[in-house]
Amino acid sequence: MNELSLLCGILGLMVGSFANVCVYRIPRRESIAFPGSHCPTCSHAIAAYDNIPLISWLMLRGRCRHCHAPIAWRYPLLELLMGVSWGLLAVHFGATAELAAALCLFFLLWVLSVIDLETGLLPNALTWPGIAAGLLFSWWLGSWQDALIGALAGYGLFWSIARLFLWLTGREGMGHGDFKLLAMLGAFMGWQALPFIVLVSSVVGALLGSLFLLLSKKGLRAEIPFGPYLAAAGMIWLVWGEDLLGWYLHVAGLHA
Ligand SMILES: [Zn+2]
Repeated sequence: MNELSLLCGILGLMVGSFANVCVYRIPRRESIAFPGSHCPTCSHAIAAYDNIPLISWLMLRGRCRHCHAPIAWRYPLLELLMGVSWGLLAVHFGATAELAAALCLFFLLWVLSVIDLETGLLPNALTWPGIAAGLLFSWWLGSWQDALIGALAGYGLFWSIARLFLWLTGREGMGHGDFKLLAMLGAFMGWQALPFIVLVSSVVGALLGSLFLLLSKKGLRAEIPFGPYLAAAGMIWLVWGEDLLGWYLHVAGLHA
């Protein structure tokens, strides 16, 4: 723990508050800047002192000060996740330019995951700028060629799988948002990240998805958002990718 991680943790809490605004407004196509925060139930404006990350929710005991409607626990949870993950990223990356890219990517991944869980959508308003941001960061910090190949291959891979699935089953298996999310991950981390992300997200998604379907009794046709699995695999690769790759090459080398 140092000053940088504390600073990033506190910034993360505040950005988490903004993330909640994005989660609510972007799928509704509302402006994320105007008007200021207001209660979704009674539309009463939320004063600055009632808009402090985590603390206000606890002080108000999870209810609107004016109409007493419950405030979803998603609000403090997303603030906490953003604060903790930003703090830990600062510990991991230190004061580097890579840290800026990591913070940006985690913000996008948390917001997209929550929107996907709540609405089943991965809005273009986030994925397209995310792809652009990933390409710019890679051009600055690493290899823009790896990033461009990553974005194109990510999109193309899922697009092909979806076409094949449609041809075989006559059903849409994957949303177009998933193509763009994988493209975004490829843009930020290069094509090298794609095999791990695709493998881990499909295996974990299939296991947890089947469990969820069994528990929900909605039948096999229920829609399961895939975005959170892609996001989680992407987060793991961003932090431990190099270690995983080294470990894999080591194991492969031993058995070659
Ligand atoms: Zn209210």
